[in-house]
Amino acid sequence: MNPETLLRLVRKNILSLAPYSTARDEYKGSIGIFLDANENPFDNGYNRYPDPRQSELKEIISQIKGIPVQQIFVGNGSDEAIDLCLRIFCEPRTDNIVTITPTYGMYRVAADINNVEVREVQLNDDFTLPTDKILASCDKNTKLIFLCSPNNPTGNSFSIEDVRRLTECFSGIVVIDEAYIDFSSHQSATMMLDEYENLIVLQTLSKAYGLAALRMGLAFAQKDIIDIFSNVKYPYNINSAGMERAKELLKRDVKAEISLLISERERLSHRLAEIEGIKHVYPSDANFLLVKSDNARLLYERLIKENIIVRDRSQVKGCEGCLRITVGTPQENNRLLEALGRCM
Ligand SMILES: *Cc1c(COP(=O)(O)O)cnc(C)c1O
Repeated sequence: MNPETLLRLVRKNILSLAPYSTARDEYKGSIGIFLDANENPFDNGYNRYPDPRQSELKEIISQIKGIPVQQIFVGNGSDEAIDLCLRIFCEPRTDNIVTITPTYGMYRVAADINNVEVREVQLNDDFTLPTDKILASCDKNTKLIFLCSPNNPTGNSFSIEDVRRLTECFSGIVVIDEAYIDFSSHQSATMMLDEYENLIVLQTLSKAYGLAALRMGLAFAQKDIIDIFSNVKYPYNINSAGMERAKELLKRDVKAEISLLISERERLSHRLAEIEGIKHVYPSDANFLLVKSDNARLLYERLIKENIIVRDRSQVKGCEGCLRITVGTPQENNRLLEALGRCM
């Protein structure tokens, strides 16, 4: 990123930050007698501080995603990456972010916590991106545009041309959250990383990779931005136990699970649409379905009585009357369909 752009977009205090230097930053060898970090020397598996750079884990992620290690940030869930975007680029009470609605709630929460104004632009009726309205909502203090594609809770992906147009026309940073990209037929925006210095792509190990409990969120961007993320994050934001489990579990091939979930999504979508009382099942590019019904709240409560918990989105503007239903195992999905037969 050219120096003027950095100066314009990154908060001054962040640009002039001298990051905390850990004992493990100063000496990177792995053999020797380590008397540099005031650790307990008796080995119990976890007595040493973890690698603050997460080099081995990033190497594996780099292989899987085909993205160089220098362009990868690993955070304590996507939550950390979202919060870092706010803390790095947005001056509290001065700058603002623009996002869409309905979408994932964390962008607003992170902005509210950081005392940064949020400007929400309603998606078009068909849930496509209102690019002109988004651009019209931006002013000189807009630092970030947050997009989510495939979008939660609507389930659709935005066209890559629309995303490209926003990234080209907007002078701040476009953050695109691809938590569900592995279930999507659309291409990832990571293929545009080399073209745009103002693009941050978020992904996660919580969904397709099945590691929600380990809390591993990913951010991909050009090296300058990733370097700033590394300077601002807590030095040991990823712990050793999580890192070891993630390295092990990432050896599993999740392709078969993903294809099964996609075929279940399509099966569920067709079966749901046949149920009387269900008005619409929106097309989905993710591992959930947005389902409109006559009385969503009642249906939600009846499903709970059947021990099936879905997400009630019926009060969300743009999703009136909708439940968001995650695609489960084939057995779970059959149970859902049976229960819905009884509930309606
Ligand atoms: C589930 C989800 C995430 C994942 O969050 P983690 O903190 O990584 O578990 C991120 N973005 C969206 C839109 C999601 O729905």
